[in-house]
Amino acid sequence: MRNLIAANWKMHFDIDEAENTAKQMANSLKFTEIDVAVCANFIHLDRLNTVFSKTGIKLGAQNMYFEEKGAYTGEVSPVMLKSVGCEYVIIGHSERRHIFGETDELINKKIKSAKSHNLKPILCVGETLKEREDAKAFDVIARQIKEGLDGVDAEDVVIAYEPVWAIGTGVVADRNTIEEIHAFVRQIVGNLPILYGGSVKPSNAEQLASIKDVNGFLVGGASLVVEDFKSLIEKFIKIKGED
Ligand code: PEP
Repeated sequence: MRNLIAANWKMHFDIDEAENTAKQMANSLKFTEIDVAVCANFIHLDRLNTVFSKTGIKLGAQNMYFEEKGAYTGEVSPVMLKSVGCEYVIIGHSERRHIFGETDELINKKIKSAKSHNLKPILCVGETLKEREDAKAFDVIARQIKEGLDGVDAEDVVIAYEPVWAIGTGVVADRNTIEEIHAFVRQIVGNLPILYGGSVKPSNAEQLASIKDVNGFLVGGASLVVEDFKSLIEKFIKIKGED
């Protein structure tokens, strides 16, 4: 299994800022030990495809619709993502689940569609603070994985464990929490890569990388600053090396 660190740029950057950041990444991120991907906004993908074309950096989207084409105003299809060079697509990010009301059923349709178009889905799972306090974290995560992957040949699927309360908050989950959730997810998904996401930054990357069953990171805020993103990748590689 190859480790993966994926950037999630969310709804940041205009087109020039995105291109400039991508160019800086193309010049400075030359890692061969692990896979590195940038999941950018739809409108950035075509330009970034050009910037990353002769580099090892892979391109990803942050969402997609499950249909190939048709009367779905405002949506973007897997065919479109392939046509601009995407290899990955984030599916079921907590912001999609909680702000845009995506259900496990919809997420499952998107995963099936992504797979059938040779896109590698990064399926995000994770509990809210309330669910954790109510001791429901394991049930929620098991449900999200089982329903998300129902009827799916899971080869090439990546799982990202992102506790909702740790995303963009600066609060990173503690070692025991991550260790026990990743071990639990491992029992369900076998040898699929399991990323950790939630306030990963250079200052905690080494600590997080040293946790068993952490096969990479999904990184929001710290991926917007090239030096920070580079530094946390270096720290991950220092601990995990090449798997
Ligand atoms: C994310 O966007 O998936 C994420 C984990 O964000 P942040 O690193 O900013 O917490």
